[in-house]
Amino acid sequence: MEKRSVYLDYNATTPLHPDVKAAMVEAFELFANPSSLHDPGRKARNAIEMVRQEIASFLKASPEEIIFTGCGSESNNTVLKMLACPGCSKECVCSKGRQELITTAIEHPSVLHTARYLSSIGHRVHILPVDSYGKVDLKAYQAALSERTGLVSIMFANNEIGTIQDIKLLAQLAHQAGALFHTDAVQAVGRLKVDLEELGVDYLSFSGHKFYGPKGVGVLYVRKNRPFCTFIHGGHQESGRRAGTMNTLAIIGMGKALQLIKEEMGEINQRLANLKAKLKEGILAKIPDIHLNGHPTDSLPNTLNVSFNGAEGESILLYLDLEGIAVSTGSACSSGTLEPSHVILATGLGAELAHGSIRFSLGRETTEEDIEYVLAKLPPIIEKVRSMSTVYSSGGCR
Ligand code: PLP
Repeated sequence: MEKRSVYLDYNATTPLHPDVKAAMVEAFELFANPSSLHDPGRKARNAIEMVRQEIASFLKASPEEIIFTGCGSESNNTVLKMLACPGCSKECVCSKGRQELITTAIEHPSVLHTARYLSSIGHRVHILPVDSYGKVDLKAYQAALSERTGLVSIMFANNEIGTIQDIKLLAQLAHQAGALFHTDAVQAVGRLKVDLEELGVDYLSFSGHKFYGPKGVGVLYVRKNRPFCTFIHGGHQESGRRAGTMNTLAIIGMGKALQLIKEEMGEINQRLANLKAKLKEGILAKIPDIHLNGHPTDSLPNTLNVSFNGAEGESILLYLDLEGIAVSTGSACSSGTLEPSHVILATGLGAELAHGSIRFSLGRETTEEDIEYVLAKLPPIIEKVRSMSTVYSSGGCR
């Protein structure tokens, strides 16, 4: 079989759609500072405001509720750190003695590490457990909600295992307790229907580079009349809510990407769901002793996460890479040890299976031939890695 390049890491990032690239190349002409009052400045500003309107209509929001940021991580930080905004005199997330945060054990590090920071400066943080599929434990959630809860932050869809939460219900429960609700929708926008009228959330974050737009640009949605504290202080950009000269090129690219995904999402999702099913069935048929991670139905159509018992994820990843196949493992190499994925561990799997997890995330360019290639290359790799596992179980960061 001829070697091919198969990129199955679309949850990490996506390539630019060719039309996005073209729109960005054209936008190089709009070099002026969009805050400048002269004609070139106004042209750049108008282009940005058109994107704001486009995004607002896509999400069923209003343009004033859309704030451009530098990335999904910044959007998440902005919302969570409102709990700790210093000397805030306004009606704010941090007001009325509501100082507690509720989040989940499977959030992206931009939420979990921010929660850890808030805890380090004295905020009580409740980290909710999830079930074996990665769904939030509703009983634990209801028990954690109280008159002290300031903010709840629960992700829309998980980046590692793809599990989708019932955000509408979770937001309703937060509101019943008088708390505000944020969702990290970085993996959801451009992949799932996200209707802000229906969801009722107060804050929502997303990022341009997960739906064939550029990196280094994100959005924070803030519902009208909800408290807001600036995270990046400085100029008056974004109506004084986020300082920094606006990234015209990236914003235009993200706008184009959303426009395209609006048209293509249904078709892409159907195709990806079929390809994911083919990959899943092929793996189940060809490789024994595996565990499928994530929810069987409430899951991103492009994401398949599999644990291979007795085989370390990093070794599988490196052998697949040698064959031209790019995937991801949840483990992170930190402080000289290989940490198993916090997401897989939270679903109750033991450290060994968590170590052996591989995320296949498909996208717009994935073909049947790609999946057939993976199904041909993966079984002998797993066999090889499993046979070497005594050598590879000596610990340490490899
Ligand atoms: N949240 C989730 C669920 C993500 O998957 C990611 C990126 O992988 C982020 C937040 C961070 O987004 P960004 O890379 O734009 O900072």
